[in-house]
Amino acid sequence: MENETVSKNFIENIIDKDLAEGVYDTVHTRFPPEPNGYLHIGHAKSILLNYGLAQEYNGKFNMRFDDTNPTKEKSEFVESIKADIKWLGADWEDRLFFASDYFGQMYEAAVKLIQKGKAYVCDLTADQIREYRGTLTEPGKESPYRNRSVEENLQLFEEMKEGKYADGEKVLRAKIDMASPNMNMRDPVIYRVAHMTHHRTGDTWCIYPMYDFAHPIEDAIEGITHSICTLEFEDHRPLYDWVVKELEYPQPPKQIEFAKLYLTNVVTGKRYIKKLVEEGIVDGWDDPRLVSIAALRRRGFTPESIKMFVELCGVSKANSSVDYAMLEYCIREDLKLKRPRLMAVLDPIKLVIDNYPEGEVEYLEAPNNMENEKLGTRKIPFGRELYIEREDFMVDPPKKYKRMFPGTEVRLMNAYFVTCTGYEADEDGTVRVVHCTYDPATKGGNAPDGRKVKGTIHWVEASQAGKAEVRLYENIVDEEKGVYNKEDGSLNVNPNSLTKVTAYVEPALMEAKGYDSFQFVRTGFFCADIHDSKEGAPVFNRIVSLKSSFKLPKA
Ligand code: ATP
Ligand code: MG
Repeated sequence: MENETVSKNFIENIIDKDLAEGVYDTVHTRFPPEPNGYLHIGHAKSILLNYGLAQEYNGKFNMRFDDTNPTKEKSEFVESIKADIKWLGADWEDRLFFASDYFGQMYEAAVKLIQKGKAYVCDLTADQIREYRGTLTEPGKESPYRNRSVEENLQLFEEMKEGKYADGEKVLRAKIDMASPNMNMRDPVIYRVAHMTHHRTGDTWCIYPMYDFAHPIEDAIEGITHSICTLEFEDHRPLYDWVVKELEYPQPPKQIEFAKLYLTNVVTGKRYIKKLVEEGIVDGWDDPRLVSIAALRRRGFTPESIKMFVELCGVSKANSSVDYAMLEYCIREDLKLKRPRLMAVLDPIKLVIDNYPEGEVEYLEAPNNMENEKLGTRKIPFGRELYIEREDFMVDPPKKYKRMFPGTEVRLMNAYFVTCTGYEADEDGTVRVVHCTYDPATKGGNAPDGRKVKGTIHWVEASQAGKAEVRLYENIVDEEKGVYNKEDGSLNVNPNSLTKVTAYVEPALMEAKGYDSFQFVRTGFFCADIHDSKEGAPVFNRIVSLKSSFKLPKA
């Protein structure tokens, strides 16, 4: 990219330093999603960052499901997440892991802490624990169970594992410092009793490790060097470091935080999307108006466009929000030379060429992409009756109007010059048919006498045109009102986020299959819908229109 700088991001600087100082001799990263929902554009950033670093440093990249919390996790999500990551192009090869496979090792790790006098079983209730924790300005109070003997703790913890206690009756806590200015260090809970069936380990366990205890262990077991996470975990880093230190891992992993990717006026929260799905406002987690990876794919985004977007966003320590228009810029850039430019008329009116022989159809050659000869040419039918866009004709146009109006000559793209001779309208003035005559000498779109026309319009020959449903989108949220309702925190849904029209399209488009994408001349980039397209009856989703006021931010 032209304004790409050679300077490295702060994570690369940390890695360079670690390698130079011999802290690590390799780079090993991971992407650790919880299988509790679909991945979204923010996750794409994390995936491409972690995978990209492993590639850049000739290291390794692990795919790991962080499935330590049995309440919300489902196998369904495991499959969708794998498919999304593969599609993005991140390759974990044979390194696919599940945190639940380490439950045995995590249990052993907890026992080790107990033996070192660094963990204890506590009988306080959740509310009491909260109360004892103190506040940001006041130190916490020690639990009355804090000084149980190692033997007693070992026995109670084993009993917890054996199912002797009900949920919440006892927890295992790390023994750190109830007066620490960092609340996360005030004897955090590291194991809890939960009589729940886990999607992989079934009923083997009725105690489950807490995230802050489990995550560093997962990283350490896998030999991760740089454990990259988002900013909200910054305050948890001392606990991460404490866990790997007390468990005496020889080459402990290092946690590095970066800012989450936020898109302005775009919803990514699982809770909100779930509601949109449940209320039938969108037609699933992959509705093209959403920004889950599955939705972006269905809409017609490419992995390359998402990669370009993530790179443009950069990696930073400061939270900020990026405009959706930047994502649109990336898909336009990616598709403009790659995809054929075909003709489709979204809001049709009929154009009759009165001096063209009735019943005759000829086939004209047209380039598939004027800017990329490699895409070749195709034959398109041309005849006496065509469809053109309603907005390309005006009875009484303003001065600067360059398209069709009575008495003017325009070019029909890839075809002939035509001169408008009149029109037919309903009583209310709605134009039904436009009439014109053509000049046979202008075949291909140029006049032998060198005369020029101001406008070129696209068209589709009527007798062979296909009819296809086309879906046009706006933001699912009402941008003027803002994403969230100020009173009750609900989403401000835009009632016009989906418009369906019936378009006339040139015959080649009728063969489109799900995920095939095209430029429709003048109206945008479109992608055949994967769910609703049928053989010979495609449904097209608009990915993005062609024009934008978006400018790339200065690097
Ligand atoms: P959500 O914000 O949808 O609840 P999550 O953080 O609960 O997402 P996880 O499965 O825990 O989802 O996330 C997996 C990884 O993706 C984590 O390393 C997390 O830091 C990262 N991640 C999540 N959201 C973003 C984001 N908006 N930008 C960058 N990385 C993200
Ligand atoms: Mg999470």
